[in-house]
Order: sequence, then structure tokens, then C-alpha cells
Amino acid sequence: MAQYAFFKGKIVPIKEAKVSVMTHGLNYGTGCFEGIRAYWNEEQEQLFVFRMQEHYERLHRSCRILHIDLPYSAAELGRITLELLRQEGYREDAYIRPLAFKADEIIGVRLHNLTDELAIFAMPFGRYLEEEEGAHVCISSWRRVDDNAVPARAKITGAYINSALVKSAAEMDGYNEALVLDQNGHISEGSAENFFMVRNGYLVTPPVNSDILEGITRDSIIELAQEEMGLETVQRSIDRSEVYICDEAFLTGTGVQIAAIIKVEHRPVGAGEMGPVVARLRELYFGAAKGRNPKYRHWCTPVSDLD
Ligand code: PMP
Repeated sequence: MAQYAFFKGKIVPIKEAKVSVMTHGLNYGTGCFEGIRAYWNEEQEQLFVFRMQEHYERLHRSCRILHIDLPYSAAELGRITLELLRQEGYREDAYIRPLAFKADEIIGVRLHNLTDELAIFAMPFGRYLEEEEGAHVCISSWRRVDDNAVPARAKITGAYINSALVKSAAEMDGYNEALVLDQNGHISEGSAENFFMVRNGYLVTPPVNSDILEGITRDSIIELAQEEMGLETVQRSIDRSEVYICDEAFLTGTGVQIAAIIKVEHRPVGAGEMGPVVARLRELYFGAAKGRNPKYRHWCTPVSDLD
């Protein structure tokens, strides 16, 4: 478990990082957050934080949408995170959770004229989805939040009620995950993952205006597929029935990493097992994220000083 947190401007024992039941962010979901992975590299005895700068830039964008003023730049947030991880001393994969929220202890729904607070904690973390090599998903009967209601491109705490409704309905019905349709009936993403499929020799993924979170793993996969496999990604809206007939399908995300979808409701995807494209992309992703591929070393920030 986490021993420390960055809270109210300094690193404190985790027990001291507490909020009141009156906190605005707790009552109204007025916060935004990130999820960042750090991978332990046994050979190099080093913990690498994956695409940290990009995660903190996205936190800044989420904060702009929520009228949250962050007193730290993305680079400063990165330095704080490294300090926190050094104090924790993890020698295993970890998950970092930065959380910016409205901290006032008042009644009143709004975003302006409130006090902002920032917390960061990190904990050891393994798989988010046990069935990474072969997930069975359904199409959720819940719809994705609409950009004109709760913008999905911001990682807003309150918006995760949508994800939680989707995930619980799927799991309680015996599936591992669910794909969610946007208000137009096209595939947007999974409950907490972006969606890709392989069709006719291309990767296809919903565009950023399909009510998705603009995923950093999604971005990494688009680059790895193009650079290492010569595989182009087409960003276009995806019909539900295309998922039933595609060659391969998978989910991407910091938590889920790259998870093969092998069955959608009662239909197998492709051959009903992880296909060659997903298998290769998983290898490429883990190689890059664990700091084993020099070409993508700029995605990995080492936690220990290299002297
Ligand atoms: N969509 C949603 C709703 C998510 O919560 C996540 C996880 N952050 C993703 C997509 C994947 O984004 P990323 O690859 O940046 O983790």
C-alpha cells in the first residue's frame, strides 16, 4: 500500500492526506484525475514512468475544462511524482493517481470561485483486467456521456459514474468489459479503455469526437503500429455490427494495457482467440513501456537518478 501522498503542497504520510465529508469534489464529483503507470525493469533495476509528461499535459487540459487552477506545470508535477516514487521505493509495477479537485466545504453546485486542491498518490499495481489475453465483452445498454453534457475528453471524477454503470452491468451479466455506444449509436470506447479493431489490413479506432478520452496508450499504439508494423490507423466512427465481423479487436489504456477482445456477446471475434496483430502490439507496447526499446526510451522517465 501507499505510505505517502503529495497533499496540500508537500509529501506527507498517507494517513495525513484526508478530506472532510463536506468536500465539494466528494459531494458533486468536481474533480479530475490521471492514471499513470510505472513499470519495474528487473534487468536495469529501474522503475520507469510511462509517458508522464503527456499525462500531466492532459491533466492540465482536464483542469481547464473544470476551471481548476493547477499551481504546477506538467514538468513540475513530474518532478513531484518522481520524488514521491523515490520515497515509496517501489521495486514493482505501480500506478500513480494525481487528483485535482474542488476542496471547499460548502453547499452549492458550481465550478467558479472555489478553492482547488491537488493530491498525488502511488500504489503497487498489477493487472486491471485479468483477461488481458482474451476478454469477453458486451455492448452496453448504457450510452457514453455526451460532450455537451459531461465532456469525455476531460478525465472528470463525476463522469466515472457512467463508466461504473457500464462496468458493473457488464460484470454482473458475466462479461469482462463492455463497449459503449455514443449518442449517435457508434462505438465510443470501453468503460475505461479505448477501442481498436483490425479490418482489411488497417487498424480502425473511433475519432476524438466520438466522446472518447483521448488516450495516451491509444496514441502510443497508433505510433507503434505505424512505425514498427507499417500498419496504418484510420480514425473514423465505427458501427456496432463492424465489431461482429472484424478480424481482431482490442482495448487500450493505462490500466488495461493492451487487452485482446476474443468474443463480443455470443459472437467470436476473428478466430475466437488473440490474433497476430494484437499479440505483436502487446509485445511492442511492453517492450517500449518497460524501457527495453531504445527507440521509445523518451517515453520512459527513470525514477532513480542515473549517475
Ligand atoms: N477511456 C477512458 C474512459 C479511460 O478512463 C481511460 C483510462 N485512462 C482510457 C480511455 C485510456 O486512456 P489512457 O490510455 O490515457 O490511459
